[in-house]
Amino acid sequence: MIRTSNLQKVFTTEEVETTALNGIQMEINPGEFVAIMGPSGCGKSTLLNILGLLDNPSEGSYEFFGTEVSGMSERQRANLRKGNIGFVFQSFNLIDELTVYENVELPLLYLKTPAGERKKRVEAALERMNIMHRRNHFPQQLSGGQQQRVAIARAVIANPKVILADEPTGNLDSANGLEVMNLLTQLNQAGTTVIMVTHSVHDSGFAHRVVNLFDGKVVTEQR
Ligand code: ADP
Ligand code: MG
Repeated sequence: MIRTSNLQKVFTTEEVETTALNGIQMEINPGEFVAIMGPSGCGKSTLLNILGLLDNPSEGSYEFFGTEVSGMSERQRANLRKGNIGFVFQSFNLIDELTVYENVELPLLYLKTPAGERKKRVEAALERMNIMHRRNHFPQQLSGGQQQRVAIARAVIANPKVILADEPTGNLDSANGLEVMNLLTQLNQAGTTVIMVTHSVHDSGFAHRVVNLFDGKVVTEQR
């Protein structure tokens, strides 16, 4: 279970304060597929980054599967992320200097997974994402759809409890976008909790529930 209570996030830059999140109450059950929608600048990415343990709230509580996260150090959050959280971004965020295979292997290196098992799991993920034939290519040699499939393989390689996706189809044409949504749906059906930010009403239709944000607050929810 993911639970936030009165979550606030204030950014301070050059004496300007921006309240990006202003009292978010949210409960997400294991196995749910939730879409987060709302206009640009309303706090979607900020919320997703906090839910994904990339950032800390300024105030309020965030409980991740029984562990209170707010107040944790950067290092404690990084440890909790390992094996628990996979991230997918609009811009793919692959490492250009590493091959497809090496990008997907990276989380398992952090987890110190033995070499034999690493190989088995990376190959299985590449097969599953239909990108095995590109294993020795570099990200810049791939189409956007292929890069996003590599990013999803990397996000799922450590069998995370939760996948967070920030506009995962935002840079893709509709055919590749549909493929990405189908992959996320398959992962969700296999038990992974999926939390996705999207602008697309079409993509939000894949979710069990849509949470609408406005000005750092949850305004409506639809099932
Ligand atoms: P969305 O993803 O919904 O477009 P964001 O969560 O990226 O919105 O941003 C919410 C608000 O917080 C915006 O006003 C944005 O400018 C501000 N913001 C986001 N990240 C930072 C940051 N690192 N420093 C300062 N302000 C930020
Ligand atoms: Mg955003």
